[in-house]
Amino acid sequence: MSVQSTLSLLPGGAPVSSAISLYARHTQGYEERVEATIAQLRQAALEHPGSIVQATSLGAEDMVLTDLIAKLNLPIAVGTLQTGKLHTETLALIPEIEARYNLDVEVYSPREEAVVHFVRRNGEDAMYQSIELRKGCCQIRKLEPLSRMLQGRQAWVTGLRREQSANRGAVPPREVEANGRVKFNPLADWSWNDVWHYIESNDVPYNALHDQFMPSIGCEPCTRAIAVGEEFRAGRWWWEDEKAKECGLHVAQPVASSAQERSKAVTA
Ligand code: SF4
Repeated sequence: MSVQSTLSLLPGGAPVSSAISLYARHTQGYEERVEATIAQLRQAALEHPGSIVQATSLGAEDMVLTDLIAKLNLPIAVGTLQTGKLHTETLALIPEIEARYNLDVEVYSPREEAVVHFVRRNGEDAMYQSIELRKGCCQIRKLEPLSRMLQGRQAWVTGLRREQSANRGAVPPREVEANGRVKFNPLADWSWNDVWHYIESNDVPYNALHDQFMPSIGCEPCTRAIAVGEEFRAGRWWWEDEKAKECGLHVAQPVASSAQERSKAVTA
């Protein structure tokens, strides 16, 4: 999806950069998509009591999911990865979520010795040197902490949407990973307009960087603002080829995402 600017379309022609002004739109089928997501979250919590976590990146999609989980009072834990390279604005959301929803966010950080060793060997800016080193950094700062978040849990919830990139174009609402863990993607068919319409309608807190033309936010060294007409994830690892643009959190091959599994996912 490319992100279209409406900068000059507001009354008076005043330039605005609020993500809500730019993106929030009610489109046909929105209510049905929200209902399907609620049904899927309820079902996920029912199937995996005490053994399911929402892995939040603290981006707009994940804020929608956290809002729903909290409002529905679902027994789904909320966890995030503190890579050590996040923006101040991203980190500020953790206490904001805890205060707003009265829940504890589980925070998983990389192992200090692994980071020290990697930086000593490859430098602070290793991610720009090669895809291998960039993936090495993601392995230490994201994948290993994620494995601890998921350890002992049967299922997890993500904010992946099909529209986000070509790499995510086939994301199913529900998939079973090779290790048997179930991954729920309840926003798979939501549009970017849906996400922001929900955020506006429900007064959901969101990362201030979204107001600075950063639709997809990761670590500070690996995220930049995008220009009008650029693809949704163009600001992530922008120096790399499009096909390499995943950190590894969502590249595992599922063993099942059949129509049967999909139908289970939307049955309350
Ligand atoms: Fe390292 Fe960048 Fe990956 Fe963050 S996104 S873990 S800084 S390579």
